[in-house]
Amino acid sequence: MQKIRNYINGELVEPIGGKYIDNINPSIGEVYSLIPDSDNNDVELAVKAAKAAFTQWSTMSINDRAKIMEAIANLIDRDLEKLAMAESIDNGKPLKLARRVDIPRASANMRFYASGIQHFASESHQADENFINYTTRRPIGVAGCISPWNLPLYLFTWKIAPALAAGNTVVAKPSEITPMTAYLFSELCIEAGLPKGVLNIVHGLGGKAGQALVEHKDVPIISFTGGTTTGKSIAATAAPMFKKLSLELGGKNPNVIFADCDFEKALSTTVHSSFSNQGQICLCGSRIFVERPIYEKFVSAFVDKVKKLTIADPLNEASKVGALVSKSHMEKVISYIKLAKEEGGTIMTGGNRAKLEDRCANGYFLEPTVITDLPHDCRTNQEEIFGPVVTIMPFDTQEEVIEYANSTAYGLSATIWTENLKKAHNVAHEIKSGIIWVNCWLVRDLRTPFGGMKQSGVGREGGWEALRFFTEPKNVCISLT
Ligand code: NDP
Repeated sequence: MQKIRNYINGELVEPIGGKYIDNINPSIGEVYSLIPDSDNNDVELAVKAAKAAFTQWSTMSINDRAKIMEAIANLIDRDLEKLAMAESIDNGKPLKLARRVDIPRASANMRFYASGIQHFASESHQADENFINYTTRRPIGVAGCISPWNLPLYLFTWKIAPALAAGNTVVAKPSEITPMTAYLFSELCIEAGLPKGVLNIVHGLGGKAGQALVEHKDVPIISFTGGTTTGKSIAATAAPMFKKLSLELGGKNPNVIFADCDFEKALSTTVHSSFSNQGQICLCGSRIFVERPIYEKFVSAFVDKVKKLTIADPLNEASKVGALVSKSHMEKVISYIKLAKEEGGTIMTGGNRAKLEDRCANGYFLEPTVITDLPHDCRTNQEEIFGPVVTIMPFDTQEEVIEYANSTAYGLSATIWTENLKKAHNVAHEIKSGIIWVNCWLVRDLRTPFGGMKQSGVGREGGWEALRFFTEPKNVCISLT
């Protein structure tokens, strides 16, 4: 059975304790590889290597850093098919999606920050003839980057690319549920000639390897993407140590659909934004609010379309809905469907585990589920489910839907559907989310700030925001007289 190894000080190594965890292919429900069950000793080695590599990497010219990152991006592109296949097997997502979105976006992340750092500049301020200020933005040291399982290589590179480009060295911990592409990535780093110790990847459990990384005294900056509960515990550890912290957390995103929308576009994009990656994208909309005059028509057309989504083996090119990432996650999602029924919801379609044939007979497949007749403030509509489950609710006025949209503890993203420009602006202004899409969804421009309000996170990733996060500003004031 394939053994994934840690990437420490430029080498692929076994965990010091010699222990491994099972890595399960969720489409078939079977163990297919082993992951290091790393602990604080492995983290210690990785931090030591990263610390030792910092001087060389942070003083290397930005052009040279960028060249190595470009080389890694090129290798990701070369291995597109292999990486997409690995992501699909590890995560359960349709191969087609991994090939079209996850892997190309991973190389785009590396390339974007390789180029971005060459345009990154700091400021100079002069108020009068007597003094001039200039600001330097220097790398901080060893950055700890912790990423989730839903978009494994995509979100892993989204963190390490700006961290490395800015001149930090990194110790990263990918989710133990989906470690494979991070492992393959470490092989590409070696091939590209990334100097040893610049990036270190420690695999293992969040509460053990992840916690050791967050607690480490020589890791002054932590970038985390994952659930809000984990984010809280990381903040509780990191804050008293005065670590710089970026938290990208959960969401419960509203889709606001007005009667004057482009109906067909709103309909097909909302199906997509509800069930892409089995609803396991932090930006998926899970609460659909539809203006009363088109409510019945929308529900009926939406349910028709959802019924036609092909649930199949993720490696099958026709698959639109793959497996959920793990058995425990599937059980959590099913428990929310049960809760929705208890709360008085009507299951319009789905609601059950999908039974596939052949090799996927024991996979963690769930029917895309659409629920109506629930109030906006019930638990089903307030808590993050993070699976192929959406609710649809009617609304009568703009004020009412803004109140519904803002009624959760989260504030990550929202979509608004209307052909009325003024209404779109006003509602976008009122919704308390970090990312708003009007008449579109998941359109990414890597320069824009990415992140959430309220319990969806602290800080922003993307563009200059990430490069500012991964650097420490210092202002120097000089007397000219
Ligand atoms: P988790 O919070 O369970 O885990 C995220 C990462 O943190 C994993 O690598 C995990 O390791 C690790 N971890 C867990 N506990 C600790 C700890 N105490 N100290 C340090 N690290 C720890 O999230 P999921 O992986 O379940 O991801 C799904 C969540 O991520 C959803 O809530 C989703 O909304 C959110 N998300 C947010 C995004 C955003 O940009 N705002 C984007 C994508 C997802 P392990 O896997 O071993 O537990």
